[in-house]
Formats: sequence, structure tokens, C-alpha cells
Amino acid sequence: MKCRTCSTEIADKALICYRCGAATTAPRVAPPEARPGRGPWPVVVAILTLIAVSLLVLPQLPEGPPRLAGWVGVVVATVLIVWVLKPARRRSRLLGRRRP
Ligand SMILES: [Zn+2]
Repeated sequence: MKCRTCSTEIADKALICYRCGAATTAPRVAPPEARPGRGPWPVVVAILTLIAVSLLVLPQLPEGPPRLAGWVGVVVATVLIVWVLKPARRRSRLLGRRRP
């Protein structure tokens, strides 16, 4: 058969052209679509919101356990937001690779 790219005569069983390296068949598994990456804005907005909450709301809470609970809430929210928004791309790539 002939190479689709450079028209060199190659063996019928060849998977790639020995001359130009082009594949003789269409790829079995399509490469994962390049998704437009989420910008840093969701994280920035979320963190700014958290800063605003901790500056405006927390000082109004009474001293002691309520304010401590407020801070714990802010920290937990920060961790959750970073965890939910950041690894989204990595997780989808892992799932794509596991598919046969
Ligand atoms: Zn070729």
C-alpha cells in the first residue's frame, strides 16, 4: 500500500510509514479533547469572598467559640473551594485514560 502522507510504497501490514512516520490507519482512540482550562478567576473570586466574609462578618461574632467556629468555617470553605475548583482538569484526564 501507499503512505497516505508521502505516497511511499510500504508493507501492507505496516502500522506507520518507515519514511515519514505517518500512521497508516486512523488512531483507534481519539486523543482527549483539549478543554479550555478554567482560568484562575473562580478561585480568586471565592477567596476574595472568603476574605470579605472574614473581615466583615467574623469581627461581629461574639468572642470565644462562635468566632472560633466562624474561622473554622472560613478555613474549611477555603480548602473545599481550592479542592473542588483546582483538580478538576487532572481528575477528568485520569478518567479518560482508564477507558479502554
Ligand atoms: Zn510516509
